[in-house]
Order: sequence, then C-alpha cells, then structure tokens
Amino acid sequence: MPRKKTPAKGFASGPGTAAVWAGETESSYQGATQTPVVHSVTYAFEDLQDWFDVAQGRKEGHIYSRNTNPTVAVLEEKIRHLEDAEASTSFATGMAAISNTLFSLLAPGKRVVSIKDSYGGTSRIFLEFLPRYDVHVSLCDTSDHDEIEAQVADGCDILYIESPTNPTLKVLDISRLSDAARAVGAIVVVDNTFATPINQNPLRLGADLVVHSATKFLGGHSDAMGGLVCGSKDLIQRLFQFREINGASLDAMSAYLILRGMKTLEIRVLRQNENALALAEFLQQHPAIDEVFYPGLASHPGHQTAARQMRGFGGVFSFSLKGGFKNVETFLHGLKFAHLAASLGSVGTLVGLPKTTSHVETPAAERAKLGIPENLIRYSVGIENAEDLLRDLEDALALL
Ligand SMILES: *Cc1c(COP(=O)(O)O)cnc(C)c1O
Repeated sequence: MPRKKTPAKGFASGPGTAAVWAGETESSYQGATQTPVVHSVTYAFEDLQDWFDVAQGRKEGHIYSRNTNPTVAVLEEKIRHLEDAEASTSFATGMAAISNTLFSLLAPGKRVVSIKDSYGGTSRIFLEFLPRYDVHVSLCDTSDHDEIEAQVADGCDILYIESPTNPTLKVLDISRLSDAARAVGAIVVVDNTFATPINQNPLRLGADLVVHSATKFLGGHSDAMGGLVCGSKDLIQRLFQFREINGASLDAMSAYLILRGMKTLEIRVLRQNENALALAEFLQQHPAIDEVFYPGLASHPGHQTAARQMRGFGGVFSFSLKGGFKNVETFLHGLKFAHLAASLGSVGTLVGLPKTTSHVETPAAERAKLGIPENLIRYSVGIENAEDLLRDLEDALALL
C-alpha cells in the first residue's frame, strides 16, 4: 500500500497547496514522485481472505477498474479536499456525472426543481429523459428566486442549480435556495463547473452535492474529459453504486491528465479571473458593444450575490455586439488569440456562440426569453497576457 502523504481528513492548507498535494501518495513504484497511470483493469490478491475483505469494504484496495482504480482514486481525493467534502466519486464526463446523479437519486413520482438556464445537456435530461420515467421537472426563471422558492415549497426532491450560468452568467444565491430546499427535505445539487473550487465552494453554502465537468477548468487543457461529484458519504455511496453498474467510469489516463492539470488550478484560475475582469471592463466601455455579462462588473444584477458567495468571478464572460450577425462574423474572424470552438476553461482562449453551440437546439424565440441576445459571444479567457488579449479584441473590433 502506498503511504498516504495527506491525512484522510482535515487537510488544512490553502487551495494552491491542496491542488498540488491533496490525494497525492508517495508512490510505491520505484520512488516515482508522480501518480502512476495504472492501466490495469484487474488486481490480483495473494490471499483469498484479502480479496473478500476488499470486496466487502473491510479493507482498502482495488478489484476491477470499472469500480475503482488507483489513479482515479487520487483524483477523487484531490477534488474532495478542494471542495471540503466528506466523499467524492468520478465519471467519464461531466454529463455522466450529472445524469448519474439525477438517475441514482430519482424515481417515478419524484420532483425536480431547476432553472431554465441549465447547461444544454442538463436541460435535455430535464425536458426529454426524466419525464419518460415519470419524474416531474419544473424549470424556473433563473433570475426569479421567489419563483424558485415557491416551486420548492410546492414539493421537491432535488433542487438542481448552476451559478454562474451559461451563457449569460446569471448568479443564484446558493445559501438562500439551499435553505428553502432544506425546509422541504430536498437534496441540493450545484454544478460548480464555471466557478471551480478556487472561486466557490457550494457545500459550504449549504448544498448537498457539487458537480464538476472536469473537462473544463479542472483539467484546464482541453485534452481530457471527466466528471466529479462531491458530498456526504451517504449520497456519494448511492451515486458510486449506480455508476459501478452502469459503467460510466473515468479511465486512468484521463484521470492522470486531469490530475496533472489540477496542480496548476489555482494559478490558472486566479489569472483567468484577472484577465476576464480586465477584458469585461474594456468591452463595457467600447462603443461597438451592446451588453457585457460578467458577474465581476458592478453593473451585473448578480454582482452583490456573487461577491458574497465567490472569491473570484471566473474566467468566462459573454457580450453582444451592436449591428447584425455580419459584425459577429467579421469580429470572430479577426481574433488572433482565440480558438473558435466549443468548451471553456482551457489555458487558451476559447470563443463560441451560444446560438451555434450550447443553445443551437433552442429556437430563437426561446433564446430571447432566456435573455440570450442573438449576437451574443461567449468568451472563455485563457492564461495569456491580458495586454495581448486586449489588443486582440481592440483590433478585431476596429474591423467593424
Ligand atoms: C461542459 C459542461 C458540462 C458537461 O460536461 P462534459 O464533460 O462536456 O460532459 C456540464 N455543465 C457545465 C456547466 C458545463 O460547462
């Protein structure tokens, strides 16, 4: 057994230290300092009794990689520390984490309350898949806390929220809504992908489960997919048992890439917070810009709540250009330091259009109802130098 470098509980340190050290074990393999990538699917025992003990949970160990894997276990331990949780588990993608969470905790007749601005894939689960199993879903106006509270009070088994949301960066008051959910015994699930544990810890604000697409900021390099969920031992055990059987397990190589990315999580996110704020402030005063959506701006309707529950405002903002779609095209084609691509949270700037990515299946009228302007551009800032990104924006806007 590798010696645990960090105690199982109460790993007291700053998030930068935890991102590097938490969960890391002193490898028993030739003194390697980095977590080995264990590709082995199956694990041998010299003693049958040990095998039984591991199988029945009396002893630590691994049997089969669909259930647990040594590399994956290190990643699960690292996020557990960063989210200050009792337990955690992992999945092949963020969507696997979200669908497993919902399907393992729900049953026919149960009721979910959520928001209209959920991530596109999550919305599809709410609108298309859960109703097939007789789960009732009520999607509220994201900015209307009173409506969400009223729907929760009407009977709710899971309150599922995101903050900030995609792509207009709406902010929900996690403490307030968690209190409302607790009053009716509902489980509160928060998708913390946009904020990351560096900027926000939903469990400390009253949530029961925190979900991450590790594909985004946690991995941080757009080269691995994964999903992570943290919460109480009881809830995580229910998710884990469901995932063991449905098989949406994270593979060791992706776990390693995410682990490697996470060692720089804090410095990346702090830089992205700074870059995003600088660019959002620049755009806000530019004459070619219609609106800027970033919770770090004092003018953003969710700024006060964000300032209370977040330590930084994140690396994603969105903005709309004045004029027609032609302007959007000219502007995007003029950018040098940005991939025109889906996804977010990478070291390199990623720019996309909700209209063609996250909300491609949402009809124009529905997008308007969600407050998504037709000319909205989502900008996920990387770790480049702010001066270069500012000049890039300036040059591309000068083409209009
Ligand atoms: C990308 C994303 C997901 C889905 O994650 P995948 O790893 O792509 O499956 C879920 N929620 C949010 C907020 C996301 O940005």
